[in-house]
Amino acid sequence: KLSARLQAIADLVPKNARLADIGSDHGYLPAWLVLNKKIPFAVAGEVVEGPYASARSLVASSNLQDKIDVRLGDGLEVITASDNIDVITIAGMGGSLIREILQRGQDTEQLTGQETLILQPNVGEYTLRRWLAKAGYGIIHEEILKEDDKIYEIIVAVKKSDACSYSQKELFFGPILLENQTEIFYEKWQKQLEKHQYILAGLKKAGQRDQEKISRTEEKIEWMKELLI
Ligand code: SAM
Repeated sequence: KLSARLQAIADLVPKNARLADIGSDHGYLPAWLVLNKKIPFAVAGEVVEGPYASARSLVASSNLQDKIDVRLGDGLEVITASDNIDVITIAGMGGSLIREILQRGQDTEQLTGQETLILQPNVGEYTLRRWLAKAGYGIIHEEILKEDDKIYEIIVAVKKSDACSYSQKELFFGPILLENQTEIFYEKWQKQLEKHQYILAGLKKAGQRDQEKISRTEEKIEWMKELLI
């Protein structure tokens, strides 16, 4: 059984997708998808030996060797053209790490633009959305959920032929989450409001001379207040 977070990601993977799960750790997500006959094939990529070994042993003990290929490597470098990957999941890392993995994948052309990206940044959602928008991706779906007192966001993106433009506010809150505000969304931003107010007080107290930094924090606080009214 998957955790609520991984289950929400699994539910977004289209049936019969050829999946690359990057940073797969134990390999739970591709194993669940294949065992439940949702997908025929997956690459599970891992850059660290320990998780790579545990994904391999899960795949072996579940007899999935011909359906899940566990590969050791950095980011999207584990993908080859003959894999015909059409969905990439990258979950449970910071948004800036996910962004770097995608950028490097774009540089090496292992990210072709044909794939649906299902991303679950633990933090740094803004940074990731900004990269997606710049790289020509449109955000087609977003979810927010809570598990064990932690709030997670999932972002689904596909490359668009026409330019996508999002406002700063949309990149910050999530264009789709903003349209469809849930209790958990409010809970997240209530906490973030308190955190930013604390940060602002700290900046002022420390005699921060970077006025731009203060203004940016103030602007975000304004947005959060508007949202929470
Ligand atoms: N994706 C799983 C999930 O959401 O539950 C595992 C998340 S785990 C916290 C993050 C995993 O990403 C770790 O196993 C780590 O070794 C792996 N990782 C970090 N950077 C990576 C990279 N550049 N390429 C591949 N895997 C990476």
